[in-house]
Amino acid sequence: MSECLFCKIARKEIPSAIVYEDDTLIAFKDIFPQAPVHLLIIPKVHCEGLGDLTPEAEAAAARIPRLAARLAVEHGVQASGWRLISNCGADGGQTVFHLHFHLLGGKSLGGKLCQ
Ligand code: AMP
Ligand code: ZN
Repeated sequence: MSECLFCKIARKEIPSAIVYEDDTLIAFKDIFPQAPVHLLIIPKVHCEGLGDLTPEAEAAAARIPRLAARLAVEHGVQASGWRLISNCGADGGQTVFHLHFHLLGGKSLGGKLCQ
């Protein structure tokens, strides 16, 4: 069994605030939210990130933008705006090496991607 944190969340071995789940994707609230709405959307299957896509992870990840748009509506940020990002590698700021997308909204996120 994988020791990966997000694999454990996907297997429900570690509790999380799940907001969506289907056969291949799961979305849950970020434990250290950076905005009023801060969700993480992950493929259930493990891959490290966008630079490491397996065909199975790619098929799951391809569905993430549409799911993000649905969650943005459900969490009340479609009208005000939101951001979907995936950090890749050390310089990208990635800290958990299981592919994930951050869905952020509920405040002005600014126009820049970095300070
Ligand atoms: P990144 O830094 O892009 O790899 O994003 C990893 C995210 O996972 C961070 O925003 C963390 O706050 C979040 N995180 C870490 N542990 C947990 C957890 N147990 N449940 C929910 N989110 C977590
Ligand atoms: Zn994993």
